[in-house]
Amino acid sequence: MIWLELHILGTASARPAGARDVSGSLLSCEDGIAVIDAGEGFQIRYAQQRKRLKLHTPTGSLRAARIDVVCLTHGHLDHTWGLLPWLQTMSLDRRTRPLLIVGPTSTEVLDALTDGRAIPESAPPAELARQMQSWHSLGATSTQLGYEVRWILGDVQADSWIELDPTSQTAAQIPSLPQPQGWRHVNIVPLATTHTVPSCAWMFETKEKAGKFNRLKAAELRLTTAQQTELGQGRDITLANGESLAASSFRSAAIEPRRLVVSGDTAEQAPGIKALSAVDVIVHEATFLDDTKDHATEHLHSTATGATRTALSCGANHLVLTHFSARIKDPTVPLDEATKEDANNSLTISVAKDGDRILLGSSGQTTHLSWTGDGWAA
Ligand SMILES: [Zn+2]
Ligand SMILES: [Zn+2]
Repeated sequence: MIWLELHILGTASARPAGARDVSGSLLSCEDGIAVIDAGEGFQIRYAQQRKRLKLHTPTGSLRAARIDVVCLTHGHLDHTWGLLPWLQTMSLDRRTRPLLIVGPTSTEVLDALTDGRAIPESAPPAELARQMQSWHSLGATSTQLGYEVRWILGDVQADSWIELDPTSQTAAQIPSLPQPQGWRHVNIVPLATTHTVPSCAWMFETKEKAGKFNRLKAAELRLTTAQQTELGQGRDITLANGESLAASSFRSAAIEPRRLVVSGDTAEQAPGIKALSAVDVIVHEATFLDDTKDHATEHLHSTATGATRTALSCGANHLVLTHFSARIKDPTVPLDEATKEDANNSLTISVAKDGDRILLGSSGQTTHLSWTGDGWAA
């Protein structure tokens, strides 16, 4: 069974280059869909992916009505510029479902907004709060869009969050990051990263599930309802004949949580990612190759080898490389560099193209489906 499915719609860094477009992904799970970043032209690529799915995968669906949350990794425009037009399109389509929009900012901005002050001038031009305020003034409010939108910003490292109210132009502190409405099986978790503006990665984590109670076995042993309840709640019981029954023998193994991380833009070994001890899939930026590793250091991006080091540090099983500089024409080059860095073969590594899908199953198996132009191939 597939737990999480990621559609990667843009794999270029900074600007469209050849067949690669700027960032934007969709994560589909049984609870709904999360959008992770929405760079320029996002809605065009989203509509295109829906068409492809309709044609090639009758069971797959990325209906906008299933989208509950937009997780922004940072404010650089190649990650945000497509959001406003797409919000307007959903308004034209008479969306009614509420939408949660969440992203990172700094403590200085949080403090200024909750105190009713303007965004400090020291905040970078691409500050998300600045963009959210301008989107509000351009009509992106619940009243004008016709569906409810919640605007949440936070300092990820400090785990401090505020909600913006576009009507009163005020901001109020909230106790924690809200989860998408109605989501019961998957949590969205921000992870602190290191970039030239406030940034975070997003982790999608399925909740651990208790194993199934073996009703057939209980029936065969003619257990009473009270005895079944005891065992079902994890307590061992002793039968009238003195035989004891262990509650654990009546339940299949628990289903472990699964984790998929999307890095956004970051220098390698981001603190929030490094702090994890097990990840099934990490989709990590690899803007540069080793020959330009100084650029990666200077601009707080990663190289393909840095992405590998990060994946190893968080105990990942599979690494997907993405977000390539326009200089990288041949995808085998970052793949070779990344693979060489994994000396003990602890990882499987693949390279993303626009339109690819990453499937993560309930037992942790990962499949990278490549868009071929005429369907997907493993
Ligand atoms: Zn970027
Ligand atoms: Zn960036």
